Amino acid sequence: MALRFYNTLTQRVQPFEPLEDHLVRMYTCGPTVYDFAHIGNFRTFVFYDILRRWLRASGYTLDHVMNITDVDDKIIRNAVAKGKSLEEYTNIYTDAFLADCATLRLERPERLARATAHIPEMAAAIRKLEDEGHTYRSDGSIYFRIATFPPYGKLSHHDFSGMVAGARVDVDEYEKGDARDFALWKAPKEGEVAWDTEVGRGRPGWHIECSVMAIQYLGATLDIHAGGVDLVFPHHENEIAQSESLTGKEFARYWIHSEFLLVDGQKMSKSLGNFYTLRDLFARGFTPESVRYLLASVPYRKGLNFTFDGLASARTAIERLRNFRLRLETAKLSDGIDGKMAEHAAKALADFDASMDDDLNTAEALGAVFEFLREANSALDTGDFKAGNLEAALALLARFDLVFDVLKPSVQADGLSEAEIDELIAARAAAKKARDFARADGIRKELLEKGVVIEDTKDGVRWKRK
Ligand SMILES: [Zn+2]
Repeated sequence: MALRFYNTLTQRVQPFEPLEDHLVRMYTCGPTVYDFAHIGNFRTFVFYDILRRWLRASGYTLDHVMNITDVDDKIIRNAVAKGKSLEEYTNIYTDAFLADCATLRLERPERLARATAHIPEMAAAIRKLEDEGHTYRSDGSIYFRIATFPPYGKLSHHDFSGMVAGARVDVDEYEKGDARDFALWKAPKEGEVAWDTEVGRGRPGWHIECSVMAIQYLGATLDIHAGGVDLVFPHHENEIAQSESLTGKEFARYWIHSEFLLVDGQKMSKSLGNFYTLRDLFARGFTPESVRYLLASVPYRKGLNFTFDGLASARTAIERLRNFRLRLETAKLSDGIDGKMAEHAAKALADFDASMDDDLNTAEALGAVFEFLREANSALDTGDFKAGNLEAALALLARFDLVFDVLKPSVQADGLSEAEIDELIAARAAAKKARDFARADGIRKELLEKGVVIEDTKDGVRWKRK
């Protein structure tokens, strides 16, 4: 079965086919840079990364745009409180976000688009919506009139028909003629940042930024639009209303949404003391790979319950995989090929791919890898694993790591390079040969202090980072 995704729009799992043969035009909603991103945010960003990597592994070329929301109510409030300009303030958190993404090995989208760099384009789009009768003005703000877009609600599958005009939906803080109408353009307020544009002075609403930047870079119809499930309504519903009113074309063909992250079964919040940024987790000694693995291991449409036990299990799982690869690379294997082992490897690879194709079922994909690991380890114990089985086993690990990307340890700033480690291991071997055991022990200790564990096996010395 080919690659398929659950599409929020159709509420069905559908085979994935982009409009153009090998190109995927994809837009994902990015961060609002008013603070450090937390692990709930990173669950979504890791999902984007897994989606990207699997699309590429499936042979597609990506044109992926992600926005950086660098103007909104919270940002303005916080920047004013800190006595910083909008730009100074958002640069801090944009840089931190990009650094965190790199630490988690998240691939960079082909384009990152900052909202404040696209204000004239947003004003032009709002003008067009005005010209076509989709808007009204009130106290200097411009609102989108939902009644002019009858399919409103098609993504969230909410029934808006019984809703009385004036019934409240908390879209934003502004006064609205219809509770479902939302601000495209916000009137300037005293002391707040504002832009002079063809629709007047003010600033854009959040929803319009995504529509405008998506269409500007990717065209009227996207193949994939993704985001966290909390964005389905109203954000993505509003994006559809604006975009389809602007272009008259379907805005996105596949809408893919990732579920929430809970901490110890509860909603993450600062008041509950269960609110974690990546920095908090690293300070507790967890590695970026463990965080990445945990966030990636639960399929994106399942709620993820984050616990420190889960993070410790992720660490153990990575350890097992690294040890297995090390064993494969260093084992002395007898010639030939074991037929049964070859079958296991082929099945594991096929199962891995089939699981990923099945709406990115990462849990099943991992299951296939670990089942093979168990079989191969016992075949290595009994000597049934032959030299001819090595290539397929390593290929499976490479396939796994193409998506999960956790096998290579993150190097701490003060860590040793591989060449330095090899040099020390050679020096230790020489010391042992010269029966200078004190020196050999000293080198082992030195390596250990620098986070490198060495192990003498019948096949020679193996090392790994702690
Ligand atoms: Zn968005």
